[in-house]
Amino acid sequence: MIPYSRQELNRDDIDAVLAVLESDFLTQGREVPAFEAGLADYVGASHGVAVNSATSALHLACLVLGVGAGDRVWTSPVSFVASANCALYCDATVDFVDIDPATGNMDPDVLAVRLREAAGKDALPKVLIPVHYAGQPCDMSAIADLAREYGVGVIEDASHALGSAYQGERVGGGHYSDITVFSFHPVKMITTGEGGALVTNDQTLADRARILRSHGITRDPSVVENLDQEPWRYAQLELGFNYRMTDVEAALGLSQLRRLDRFLASRRHHANAYLEAFADGPVTTLQQRSGTESSWHLMSVQVQPDIRGELFRRLRADGIGVNVHYTPIYWQPFYRRLGFSTGYCPGAEQFYHRAISLPLHTQLTEDERQWVVSSVIHHAESLMGV
Ligand SMILES: *Cc1c(COP(=O)(O)O)cnc(C)c1O
Repeated sequence: MIPYSRQELNRDDIDAVLAVLESDFLTQGREVPAFEAGLADYVGASHGVAVNSATSALHLACLVLGVGAGDRVWTSPVSFVASANCALYCDATVDFVDIDPATGNMDPDVLAVRLREAAGKDALPKVLIPVHYAGQPCDMSAIADLAREYGVGVIEDASHALGSAYQGERVGGGHYSDITVFSFHPVKMITTGEGGALVTNDQTLADRARILRSHGITRDPSVVENLDQEPWRYAQLELGFNYRMTDVEAALGLSQLRRLDRFLASRRHHANAYLEAFADGPVTTLQQRSGTESSWHLMSVQVQPDIRGELFRRLRADGIGVNVHYTPIYWQPFYRRLGFSTGYCPGAEQFYHRAISLPLHTQLTEDERQWVVSSVIHHAESLMGV
């Protein structure tokens, strides 16, 4: 089966991991700060905080922005469930802002209407979490303007978008948000096995995230009393978690980061070939907006809703590991129990019914991609009776 995405590891990655395994520190050593610095530098942020998953990074991002009981968090319905779950970890409530079905990204026009209504009812969200679907940055300029107007915090869920650019600057630079979150799961742009990070330009937010990822504990001499005389001391300042990334993972991440530009070029090459192959149908590729440069995490295309299920089955039968990104989050049984029902975000539902993700990754060969293209065209046309 040709997977829809997969990691690429080489000898350098393995050697970097082995070196840590043979060193004194498997965790809390030098590799995590080195990876954090490398990541922050790559995306153009002042601070990086590495953790054990993007899910943890989203949780910490909400906490350091003050999300708590009684607060509201708004995100995109076309995302992985973690984009919404993070609000509930903080005892806040979550709501969904519909997407533009042409891109899969949060629609700023819908957001404007929803914010105006919410302001009238004194029900504004504390934080917005736009998701850069498939790697294409959201319209962050419009989202940031609205967030500023209504005094709402912004966390970019850039789990798909490491290496993406918006208006000429890399996602994570922090011009349009308070915090940006990345994932290093093996299907994402680079991998650490499991892993994630947040980046920010705000030292206070970064410091608090570092404390929360490690039980709420600090060893900062300006905070811990009497550390000179009693050097074993540390201070737990609040209730934190163990969300730390290991040095084994960070060494892998740093090694992967060195090849990110090559990964991006390879994904772009395959994506451009798909765009060309499908320029005249039978599937529709997502609109790429001017001023955006996608990382191409996903080759998510749209097909006629009446053929999607059967096309999916036939492609799988051909050994093509297609997937669907995503079932609207609020369709999950857990979210239905919170009171959401079908029809809530029509754009997201239309998008879901048509969505299919084709293989796109750095290990894909020219032959494999051509096989995917011919298979998609053959089955789609026969199902549509062309
Ligand atoms: C993968 C993903 C996450 C969660 O990432 P983990 O590192 O697996 O916790 C969150 N949001 C989006 C949009 C994702 O694709």
